[in-house]
Amino acid sequence: MALSIDTLAFAYLVSAILFILGLKGLTSPATARRGSFQAIVGMIIAVAVTLLSPEISSAIRPYGIIAIAVIIGAAIGITVAIKIQMTAMPQLVAMLHSFVGLAAVLVAIGTFINKESTGGLNPVLMGELAAGIVIGAITFTGSLIAFGKLQAILSSAPVVFTGQHWLNLALGVIAIVFAIHFGMTGSYVSLAIVTIISLALGFLLIIPIGGADMPVVISMLNSYSGWAAAATGFTLQNNLLIVTGALVGFSGAIISYIMCRAMNRSFISVILGGFGVAEGGEASPMAAAAEKGVKAAGVEDAVFWMDNEGAKVIVVPGYGMAVAQAQHALKEVKEILAGRGVSVKFAIHPVAGRMPGHMNVLLAEADIPYDQVLEMDEINPEFPSCDVAIVVGANDVTNPAAKIDPTSDIYGMPILDVEKAKQIFVIKRSMRPGYAGVDNLLYYRDNCSMLFGDAKEMCEGLAGALKGGH
Ligand code: NDP
Repeated sequence: MALSIDTLAFAYLVSAILFILGLKGLTSPATARRGSFQAIVGMIIAVAVTLLSPEISSAIRPYGIIAIAVIIGAAIGITVAIKIQMTAMPQLVAMLHSFVGLAAVLVAIGTFINKESTGGLNPVLMGELAAGIVIGAITFTGSLIAFGKLQAILSSAPVVFTGQHWLNLALGVIAIVFAIHFGMTGSYVSLAIVTIISLALGFLLIIPIGGADMPVVISMLNSYSGWAAAATGFTLQNNLLIVTGALVGFSGAIISYIMCRAMNRSFISVILGGFGVAEGGEASPMAAAAEKGVKAAGVEDAVFWMDNEGAKVIVVPGYGMAVAQAQHALKEVKEILAGRGVSVKFAIHPVAGRMPGHMNVLLAEADIPYDQVLEMDEINPEFPSCDVAIVVGANDVTNPAAKIDPTSDIYGMPILDVEKAKQIFVIKRSMRPGYAGVDNLLYYRDNCSMLFGDAKEMCEGLAGALKGGH
């Protein structure tokens, strides 16, 4: 049974609307589940009607091959989704983008070979094929390098050499020239050259970018993969793929912009690379001057400050909470305190952790109510009236150097005003810096004490001490 073109177009329209509603739903934790569900329904409709489209159902025995591909793909997808740790999500996303890029290249080459023999090539299609190959190949190798860096298979340090940007520029120009030649002549040699150069370009564009900027790169590659999918949509004359590709392309670009703004970096400086090199690097002169009098405390000290009826506590989670998976222990601390009349709120910095929404997802997983989880702009005015700020594995996002030390790498980045709390306790394992590799001036403040230890163990210790005290 083949669907009519009109039915197909209508079903694609419904899918596209469901994808847009899905994206809208994902903008808030309260509606995220619904958004995911809408997107899933949209995808099921899209796949089902595509399988019933005239082009596929008129092909000779296509369903057997498709079924094999779906079963293999689903088996891999389900296994990976079950096994993946939350902290490894960025590299999984990078890996998935590489698949989109590779698919775009293969579809373009396959379509070219197919149409060349059946005689369906025209200048517009050739242009789409060339664009699909260039964008897809860059996305493929770029995403593989991003995956390797995040998975620590490759060093996360930027790889830089003299003339790098000129080399990239020259290769970019050569790729465009051969892409145009391929588009005009259909030459296999040009096709091979444009593919190889684009693959090399993806590799060369990403190696100079340091680990700290990798999440921005991932969302940028997310955007590229969307454009690669849109190019494939033009090639296959599939409207839904064009719409979906554009949605992914724009949302990836917007999220890259938001991340750059939250880190106070320009997009160009991220792309050119070289940030986040100084692991445990030199303290700035200001920080070095202040490098005296860092106080260490025990969980009892923190409990003494927090366990008072009417007290106001703000919890600042960061990457360390994610690594230690401390969110459940943290929730227990919150419940005990709330039961004793203490107000507990959670402060979320837009780039806390290693991906946008990282903290929101973990806190939601621990069933912490959304109304107690506040974004930076909402919570910052509350720090001056807060009795205790407890920082759980966060570092860069609390660093006052961003406001007062113009020599600091993170100068200008908006931060959580933790320093304004009456008393601060910082849970982390050592004096090592955070991802940006800069010393945190907060730790040298009179009102700040360190609780050295693993975030989960320390939160469990806090819960135990709170219970023991009553
Ligand atoms: P940071 O990387 O600044 O600091 C995390 C801290 O957690 C470290 O100082 C580390 O200290 C501590 N830590 C690690 N493991 C544990 C553990 N098991 N128990 C307790 N503490 C632990 O994280 P933030 O969340 O404050 O900031 C995020 C950083 O990532 C920013 O620099 C941001 O720009 C960057 N980034 C974030 C993106 C995003 O989308 N979220 C995107 C791009 C970049 P120690 O080793 O001493 O324990």
